[in-house]
Amino acid sequence: MLADFERYPLTFGPSPIEKLPRLSAALDDRVELYAKREDCNSGLAFGGNKLRKLEYIVPDAIAAGADTLVTIGGVQSNHTRLVAATAAKIGMKCRLIQENWVPQHEALYDRVGNILLSRVLGADIELVDAGFDIGIRSSWEAAIADVEAKGGRPYPIPAGASVHKYGGLGFVGFADEVRVQEEELGLTFDYIVVCTVTGSTHAGMIVGFASDGRSRNVIGIDASGTPDKTFAQVLDIAQKTASLVGLQQPITADDVVLKRDYAYPTYGIPSAETNAAIRLCARTEGMLTDPVYEGKSMQGLLDLVRKGFFPKGAKILYAHLGGVPAINAYSETYRNG
Ligand SMILES: *Cc1c(COP(=O)(O)O)cnc(C)c1O
Repeated sequence: MLADFERYPLTFGPSPIEKLPRLSAALDDRVELYAKREDCNSGLAFGGNKLRKLEYIVPDAIAAGADTLVTIGGVQSNHTRLVAATAAKIGMKCRLIQENWVPQHEALYDRVGNILLSRVLGADIELVDAGFDIGIRSSWEAAIADVEAKGGRPYPIPAGASVHKYGGLGFVGFADEVRVQEEELGLTFDYIVVCTVTGSTHAGMIVGFASDGRSRNVIGIDASGTPDKTFAQVLDIAQKTASLVGLQQPITADDVVLKRDYAYPTYGIPSAETNAAIRLCARTEGMLTDPVYEGKSMQGLLDLVRKGFFPKGAKILYAHLGGVPAINAYSETYRNG
């Protein structure tokens, strides 16, 4: 489905799939857990899911004759870090708007982790005092206009690289990649569990897994805390991506499975249960997850297994999307581990 779209390689190639036997055992082996390690998918600034999306966006930026990538996120955004790294790699400038999306007041929150890395990568960063929203923001539009006014050629990338015409393509490719790996491993995954916020990761998977009837086996775990908006955005991106790639079947609201019970207390703040999931995963598998995204999808995965949501013996692929650098901004929370 992707043969007609140009891809600029930013990743190492297929990301590895790893079995998680000790985490499965901690859940009484009710299911078989595996992780697809998008968190180690590239040598660019620690990698992560945004690079798979950017691989299909960069050719358009180059074709447009742009010289500056302009994007937006929270202070500890992984996405802005990876746009900064991508800009460096392709020889463009990078302008970042970083908003106050998380009510997190730890010392050094705006100095360490992702934002530190983006600064070292040479991005021009503007901190803006606006709250969380996955939609289009006026601060981002103002930055685009400012780059232009100063004689630059901006290329706008929306939050999470999601509501971009090519934003869903990368994770259509993820599904193709999983099918090849399933052949090699001699198994088929019954479910794919993924963290969902700006939506194009989940949306791409819905389209990618539609051809073998697994769209509804992609279980999105909302970490936005604004699940109605996220649900609508996933559906919209999935439908647009489906028509872009010429999918021969309709995508409807029934294809979007989004679990809403794990984003509390709010976006960017881990609950006690999120932290318990982060620790269990770290201490059984040595696999780190972050307090904003993957800790919440890990919490959702563990809770759904314990509740018997998945049939006994189900093979579940946890899509680890990255994000660990943000944990540095939560030193108070993890001061004792
Ligand atoms: C961006 C991000 C997500 C959410 O992906 P969306 O495509 O925005 O829904 C999940 N985990 C990590 C680590 C991320 O950086």
